[in-house]
Parts: sequence; structure tokens; C-alpha cells
Amino acid sequence: MFLGVGTESDCIFCQIVVGSSPATKIAENDRAIAFMDINPATPGHVLVVPRSHAVDLLDVEPDDLASCARLTQTVAQRAKERLEADGVNLLNCSGAAAGQTVFHFHLHVIVRFRDDVGKDRIGLPWETVPSNLAEVQRIGELLV
Ligand code: 5GP
Ligand code: ZN
Repeated sequence: MFLGVGTESDCIFCQIVVGSSPATKIAENDRAIAFMDINPATPGHVLVVPRSHAVDLLDVEPDDLASCARLTQTVAQRAKERLEADGVNLLNCSGAAAGQTVFHFHLHVIVRFRDDVGKDRIGLPWETVPSNLAEVQRIGELLV
């Protein structure tokens, strides 16, 4: 039996963690829970969130991030076995510029089906363009 932890009263995912807002919870561990996305990108779309409130990837405690990653693997395994998923995309949006709309860290587990590739709402793989190697290296040096 795990206890809820969410601390931000105006955060919808904290409310889901402690059970004051409804969600279809499917899995949990001591630091993270998984529940169905209310507006799935594909059938079976799951969100994995830390119990403790954190805004985004830069804010989340490393141990919470590790627990989210472990739970994500469990969800992906279930999607394969029980939903007959052919693949999974993991997505995290950190920051409004990256498309984040709920500011409690979460990993999207987006279930993919071979027959739906190109027909579902996931635009992957993205269009590749010929690279400018000097520019790639210049930016890479900023990140070393
Ligand atoms: P983001 O855009 O922040 O990466 O993703 C937020 C996700 O949370 C969206 O996919 C959205 O459908 C989902 N979501 C927003 N509000 C709720 C809610 O109240 N319950 C559930 N289960 N999912 C939500
Ligand atoms: Zn929260």
C-alpha cells in the first residue's frame, strides 16, 4: 500500500496522486504513479508522474526520475503483452516552449501500433534535412 504525496493544491496531477481528483490509475511504486491520459494521443496513452510535485525535468528529484523510468518500463511491458502494442514512444515536454501544459513532471508512454503508423496523430519519424556538420559540432562544443 503506497501513500499519496502531492503537495500543490492547485496542481491537477498532485490531486490525482492523493486521490482528490479522479483518474484511471494503472500502476504505482513508492515514488511514482501511472494513469491513463484523459485525452489519449493513441489508444493506451499513459502518463507516469512522481508522487512529489516537481515542475519539469530540471526540477524533478533524481530518485523520483529513476522511479518514473522504472514504472514507464512496466507500463510499456504491459502495453506489449496486454494491448498487443508493436512499439512505444516516450515523451517528456519540459517547458512551455516544448509543449508542456501541465506543470507537474510527467512522462508520456505513447503506445504504437504497426497498422496505425502514418495514420495516427503521432508525426514520427520527423522529416530529416541534410545536416550542416560545422554547426552540429559548434553546438556540440557548447554542450561538452
Ligand atoms: P503535456 O502537454 O504537459 O506534456 O501533457 C499533459 C497531458 O496531461 C496531456 O496529454 C493531457 O491530455 C493530460 N491531462 C491534462 N489534464 C488531465 C487530467 O485531468 N487527467 C488526466 N488523466 N490527464 C490529463
Ligand atoms: Zn503537482
